[in-house]
Amino acid sequence: MHISGIHHITAISGGPQINYDFYAKILGLRLVKKTVNFDDPQTWHLYYGDETGSPGTLLTFFPFENASPGKAGTGMASRIGFAVPGDSFQWWVDRISGKVSRFDPPSERFGNPVITFQDPDGLLLEITTLPMVEKLPGWATGDIPKEHSIRCFANATLLLDDGVETARLLQIMGYEPLQKDGVFQRFAAYGSSASSVSDAGGGGQASSGIVPAPFIDLHIQKTTVGRMGTGTVHHVAFRAENEEQQLQWRDALMKAGLRPTPVVDRQYFRSIYFHEPGGVLFELATDPPGMLIDEGMDTLGTALKLPPGLEQNRHWIEEHLPELTT
Ligand code: ZN
Repeated sequence: MHISGIHHITAISGGPQINYDFYAKILGLRLVKKTVNFDDPQTWHLYYGDETGSPGTLLTFFPFENASPGKAGTGMASRIGFAVPGDSFQWWVDRISGKVSRFDPPSERFGNPVITFQDPDGLLLEITTLPMVEKLPGWATGDIPKEHSIRCFANATLLLDDGVETARLLQIMGYEPLQKDGVFQRFAAYGSSASSVSDAGGGGQASSGIVPAPFIDLHIQKTTVGRMGTGTVHHVAFRAENEEQQLQWRDALMKAGLRPTPVVDRQYFRSIYFHEPGGVLFELATDPPGMLIDEGMDTLGTALKLPPGLEQNRHWIEEHLPELTT
């Protein structure tokens, strides 16, 4: 059994409008689902992704208008990387540089160019290039042509004190260690990447129609414990092919000494959660049923969607959700 990559990443943001304006309008991701936090239905849960909300492209947010700012620290995912085609990198440098509060000029990591910048809540984001991602659909917006669109995650970076136990777990999950670059060590989902250092930075593979698997990068640095709040990542979810495989993984994780939760129904996937040994909250989410279960591709993300158990409270929920114009 091998995990085939990241399914989604979930973060906490401030107000939903600022979040939408940044991720949908500046980064050009498609808002593929407008729903609520099932455990706190007066809070939005916004899903961004490619044109169909494919696993490997999904970035989701719980926006809390009045929450305290968080701070990334050890035991947290500290950066989210997006992949664009090589020919589009400079286009993004030009686009992003004047639109964000922090912008680090282009540098190179693992042989690929990368820019690092902050979202409006201080969450660290990166844009880099991966081979063959131009074959992926992405999403076109008013001022971002489809050819330049963000295609998928490139990587998620975990900030850790030493990373030894986390590396061991990633290998149980089927990830292969690739090269190191300074304080970063890169792991590739099994079979998703040439492990050759010289191969364009060991970039992801994308045969037609298959989203390449984003890397997991360990950022090894002694630092203080993080504080969850706006501008921080809540968890990183990995892909399970189906519910049966998810249960097999649950057993395997328990045998490895971890404590996964029972399966939770998240409407668009089934989930189990566990803390990896370095402290980062991981989730294992099933690919099915996916974002198209309750609305068509043309109208994805346009209407408030509620799971059957909350539908009876729709009126109350609509009245209590913070304002959001999409
Ligand atoms: Zn999740």
